[in-house]
Parts: sequence; structure tokens; C-alpha cells
Amino acid sequence: MGGGFGGLAAANELRAALPQDARITIVDKKDWFMMDLVKLWILTGARQFETSKRQLEAVTKKGIEFINEEATKIDLENKIVRTNYRRLHYDYLIIALGVELAPEQIPGLRENSLILYDLNDVSKIRDKISQMKLGKIAIAITGLPYKCPPAPYEAALLIRSVLEETGASSSIQMDFYSPTQITLPAGGPQVSEEILQILKSKNIEFHGSHKTTSVEPNKLKFESGETNFDLLIAIPPHKVPLVAVDCGLAQPGKFIEVDRTCKTKFENVFAIGDVNQIMVTDKIAVPKAGIFAEGQGITVARNIISKIKKEQEGSVFDGQGGCFLETGKKIAGYIRVDMYSSPTPITELKAPSSDYFSEKEKFEKERLEKWL
Ligand SMILES: Cc1cc2nc3c(=O)[nH]c(=O)nc-3n(C[C@H](O)[C@H](O)[C@H](O)COP(=O)(O)OP(=O)(O)OC[C@H]3O[C@@H](n4cnc5c(N)ncnc54)[C@H](O)[C@@H]3O)c2cc1C
Repeated sequence: MGGGFGGLAAANELRAALPQDARITIVDKKDWFMMDLVKLWILTGARQFETSKRQLEAVTKKGIEFINEEATKIDLENKIVRTNYRRLHYDYLIIALGVELAPEQIPGLRENSLILYDLNDVSKIRDKISQMKLGKIAIAITGLPYKCPPAPYEAALLIRSVLEETGASSSIQMDFYSPTQITLPAGGPQVSEEILQILKSKNIEFHGSHKTTSVEPNKLKFESGETNFDLLIAIPPHKVPLVAVDCGLAQPGKFIEVDRTCKTKFENVFAIGDVNQIMVTDKIAVPKAGIFAEGQGITVARNIISKIKKEQEGSVFDGQGGCFLETGKKIAGYIRVDMYSSPTPITELKAPSSDYFSEKEKFEKERLEKWL
């Protein structure tokens, strides 16, 4: 369920290893796939949605079935997924539904901001920043956890870069508000400090420990204090899709809790990617990122393949990966992550360069070629 990062990785891994009489089906309410990272390129004007999306139907060429319908009910007892039009029986079920954006959880947020992660709002942000001549842009993380921890910082840096091109940069103040004390808790204090310095070098002021409580026209309110803005770009709270809560896989207000095997408490039912929560230590969870959704999809697929072939199931999610930190003008850094290194997760920021920008482009291209 879900033809995003995790679902596509899992389905392709399964298809490559299983005979054709094993039916593999992707169910997605959208008929297209586009990596979320492209939203930042739409924001800068480097890309358009229409030319960046790929039809999910393309998986059928490889022998993966595609059903373009919304899953409305999961009946775990009878092993059936329902849509409005059909009932699908399964032997193995991979939940890869991602997260839903929930701006409604913060009063006034939807009405008074543009949502960075919302495809419809990204082009509006693009229009606003290209016309803006002076004033204050506030960027606020308003809920935790959120997808791709470095992405809001990338967005801030890319917006600064667009403003430099339009010539308005020196008359536009940029402020970044986060409920966390440091920029990137998932990356640790060292990486957070490096990101802080990159923001400073671009005249973007970071305000940590600012938990947004409500938004009014041109006013952002925090647990303590408030600030004005001319344009608010927000990262809203995220929530698990209702269909995963209704069937008991996730507790209300929480993600689906699994360990490194991504097995849920229901036999042959797995949860991968943003929809799940994998705790690494009692305080640190695996960040919500496409690279990890992919790794978890491959892990689960390998274990299903082993089970079908009556072999030992030996795969566990390795927690290795990384996210790019694009800084503008076709330059990017790379945050390398090893979630299960002992005694604590390792993260390091590789200095921004044009090589990492090329790697980011390759990251998208290679997966599109492989999956669709
Ligand atoms: C701006 C931005 C930049 C990012 N940059 C990076 C990056 O550089 N590197 C990186 O690794 N990650 C990045 N990410 C994070 C990454 O996009 C996500 O972590 C990743 O998409 C998660 O994959 P997933 O398979 O769990 O969910 P998704 O890719 O979100 O897929 C979920 C799918 O489920 C479908 N679905 C949901 N509900 C239903 C339903 N009821 N019935 C049927 N279908 C349903 C959805 O339509 C969707 O296609 C970025 C995110 C953002 C927002």
C-alpha cells in the first residue's frame, strides 16, 4: 500500500526475485510519483511538476500490478484491503502510506501561511519570493517529527539564493523558527552547529526553542512570545493516515511502531518509511527520509522473498544513508548517517560542493530509471 519511495523500492525488489505467479500489487490514490526533493527545485524555478512526475502505471511493464484507488479499510483479521471499488486479498502486506500533512493542528496556520511540503503551495511560494522586494520571510517548523530534517534549511538557503538573483536579498530579512534547541537534533550538535554557520553566512537567523502555538494574519505566536512576518512558510505537523489508525496498526497521534525488521504485531504485515517509527535509542528515532524508506522496503522485500522460498529470514534495516543539503547555485552538502553505529548514531556533514549537487541529481535519476 503506497507507491512512494518505500513502496516502489519494495515492489521492485520483490519483482526481481520472485516468479511471475507471485502477484505484486501497488495501491496508490495518486497515479503519479515525484520525489519530494523536486518540490525544492519547483520552488527555485529549476523544475516543473508536469515534466518531473512519472506515471505509476509504468510499473505494469515489469509485471507489477497498479491500482489507482484509495485504500479505505484494512481488515487485518481477514487479510483484506478495501478500496471504494474492490476488496484485495493479501498474503503479505507492506504499509508504505507515508504521512499526511496536518496544518489544521495549529490554529490559523492553513489560512495564514504557505506550506512548504504542499505541492500546490510550492509554486505559490515561488511566485511570492520572485515578486517580493522587501520585508520579512519567516520559516517555521511547527511540528515534530517532520519529513527530511534538513529540507526546511535547504528551502531557506534556496530562497535566499533566489532573492540574490532577483536583487531583493539585501532588503529581505529571513528568520527561521524551530521548536528544537539546535538546527538538526537528528544530526547531533556538531552538524547542527555547521548548519547554523551556513545559515548565518546567508544572513538567515535561526531561533531555536520556538514552539508555534497559533498563527494570525502576519503574526506567528509561540509558547512564549510572538513575531511578525510578511510571508510565512511553514512545515506543518505530520500525522499517520487514518486508515492505519482505524485498523489498530497505529495508536492515535502516533506512527506505527516497529523494530529494524519493520514487522508489525500482525503476521506478514510490515510498516516501512515515514508511516513508521523505529527507535534507535530511547530518545533517537530513525529520521523520516526517502533513503530510509527505500532501505526498509528492500529489507522487508528480502525477508518476504526468503519466507516464500523457505529460506532463513536474515535482513534487518541497516540505518545507513544520508540526505543532501542544497545551498543554492547548484551546490549541495551531504549529511552522511549511520543510525546503528555504536555507541551512538554517527552523522557528518560533507562540505557543500558542485559534486554533491550532481550526486543529488543522480540520486533521483537512478531511482526513477530503476523503479518506473
Ligand atoms: C521538500 C522535501 C525534500 C526531501 N528531500 C529528501 C532527500 O533529499 N532525500 C531523502 O531521502 N528524502 C527526502 N525527503 C523525504 C522523503 O520524500 C520521504 O521521507 C519519503 O517520500 C517517504 O517515503 P514513503 O514511501 O514512506 O512515503 P511516500 O513517498 O510519501 O509515499 C506514500 C504514498 O502512499 C500513498 N497513499 C497515502 N494514503 C493512501 C491511501 N489511503 N490509499 C492509497 N494510497 C495512499 C500516497 O499517495 C503516496 O504516494 C524530502 C521530503 C520533502 C518534503
